[in-house]
Amino acid sequence: MKIGILALQGAFIEHANMLQALNVDSFEIRQKKDLNQPMDGMILPGGESTTMYKLLVDLDLFDSVKEKIQQGLPVFGTCAGLLLLAKTVHNHSNPYIQTMDIIARKNAYGRQLGSFRTIGTFAGIENVPFVFIRAPYIEQVGDGVEVLAIIDDKIVAARQDNQLATAFHPELTKDLTIHRYFIEMCKKQ
Ligand code: GLN
Repeated sequence: MKIGILALQGAFIEHANMLQALNVDSFEIRQKKDLNQPMDGMILPGGESTTMYKLLVDLDLFDSVKEKIQQGLPVFGTCAGLLLLAKTVHNHSNPYIQTMDIIARKNAYGRQLGSFRTIGTFAGIENVPFVFIRAPYIEQVGDGVEVLAIIDDKIVAARQDNQLATAFHPELTKDLTIHRYFIEMCKKQ
């Protein structure tokens, strides 16, 4: 089992640490040749979605990353990664990867006050810590999308086939629940 972590910007090291705690190998995706390595899944970390998008395009990674997701590679997008995956970002006009049938709202909790911690239920698993940092939320999901977590009536985690997205940052906690869930997705692929 080996997971590629997009390492252009943002919180990628923290994801590698979570995977290590689960005894799962990972490597950083920084340039095109890194995508030639065999991988069982890919993580798009939190950071700043427009910056990450521009780097993906500038480094000529965008098309290959999108293609891998379309071909069924399991992918896990956190926060900015969720925005990259969303088919539509309500308050943002740039096209991103757009493979997941969700409508998201960027900086949905307000720019300054949008960082908070809470405890929630994820895929029926209770007491999971959620960390939000200038987070988006999901306003609407398409037919094939399973809602995995709701906080204050807002959808904050969802899955569509090979794609998992969370508005929060499980990699900034010590709780391995969500990474474990993603690794199970990668095993079944
Ligand atoms: N607000 C960021 C964006 O718009 C996402 C924040 C995060 O990833 N923590 O991309």
